[in-house]
Amino acid sequence: MDVVVPAEFEHLYVHDEDHPVVKIPSQVLRKTATEITKLSNRHKLLAENMVRIMNKANGVGIAAPQVGVSERIIVIAPERRPIVLVNPVIVKHEGSQVGEEGCLSIPGLYGDVERFDTVEVEAYDIKGRPLNYEMSGYAARIVQHEIDHLDGILFIDKVDEKTVHWQDPNRERDE
Ligand code: ZN
Repeated sequence: MDVVVPAEFEHLYVHDEDHPVVKIPSQVLRKTATEITKLSNRHKLLAENMVRIMNKANGVGIAAPQVGVSERIIVIAPERRPIVLVNPVIVKHEGSQVGEEGCLSIPGLYGDVERFDTVEVEAYDIKGRPLNYEMSGYAARIVQHEIDHLDGILFIDKVDEKTVHWQDPNRERDE
């Protein structure tokens, strides 16, 4: 769906040093992010920066394109403790769930999205060690939302348009 930001939410779409999350319609959010072939200190700093920005924005997940870096790295924090995933891939999925989502790059907009209920994700940690997680429910929803960001996909591409609504984002946590 096309998003028209209501006037009373426009102030949330500022992008500057104090508001470092990239917002729509920035094109970096629509690019396919590059796979990381060699981890360096730059990625460690990037991940730390992403965690800091996510926490400051009260998010439960963030993807590198949302801080302007088109590389395949995400942070998820379903239980507040951040997990960094490099080159994450869903290798198996099961069932489906419908639940409300928001996005730090589309502040104020919420709506229901259908996702897989359970996913198995393969990735690497920031030191390049292989990781394998099985996630269900809320954690599975967050990781699918963030991996979509790496493919230039936003939740507004999948949202049930009948459920879309605007509300003050400071009232809840966003992906
Ligand atoms: Zn998002």
